[in-house]
Amino acid sequence: MKIICIGRNYTAHIEELQNERPEEPVVFIKPDSSVLPKEQDFYIPEFSNDVHYEVEVLVKIKKVGKHIEPEFAKNYYDEIGLGIDFTARDLQQKLKEKGLPWEKAKGFDGATVVGKWLPKTNFKNIDDINFCLLKNNKTVQTGNTSLMLWKIDEIIAYVSTFFTLKKGDIIFTGTPSGVGKIETNDYLSGTIEGEELFNLNIK
Ligand code: ZN
Repeated sequence: MKIICIGRNYTAHIEELQNERPEEPVVFIKPDSSVLPKEQDFYIPEFSNDVHYEVEVLVKIKKVGKHIEPEFAKNYYDEIGLGIDFTARDLQQKLKEKGLPWEKAKGFDGATVVGKWLPKTNFKNIDDINFCLLKNNKTVQTGNTSLMLWKIDEIIAYVSTFFTLKKGDIIFTGTPSGVGKIETNDYLSGTIEGEELFNLNIK
């Protein structure tokens, strides 16, 4: 199973990190070993003093596909989820400055939170889903999939021109603005349309 992530997919988040607006989707991969086991706490790794949460809508691929046309992309997923793309921002910044790959900052053990899955039939419109991240029961990030620069079906089409998608692969579709640092003893929870799909403690 691979985890394909889209960066810089919401304008407001591009602005908060002062990144350039991309002409094509920014794509990177996290290893399957980065998935935080269910019900486990997240431990801030020793190599970072600035781990950020990034809440993102997830799509689970249900069958093999490559060179998928956008109009057929919907045939490749039945489930929508929510997760966190934890990022060691200090390490990522150093790597970005040197033009180096940032996998270490995003692919470390536990850096990928995958919540509960919902059938896509729960949603009237995949491109109009509200989601939210709460830290210590206060909302810190809100997003709506309508605000994505590249929508879910466009992302699937785009990434499938580079990578064969396989059953069980997960796509992280990018984070809206409001990313921030986590501290020991924080409690994070994520909701889609008000339904909680994950919660975890930070240690
Ligand atoms: Zn992300």
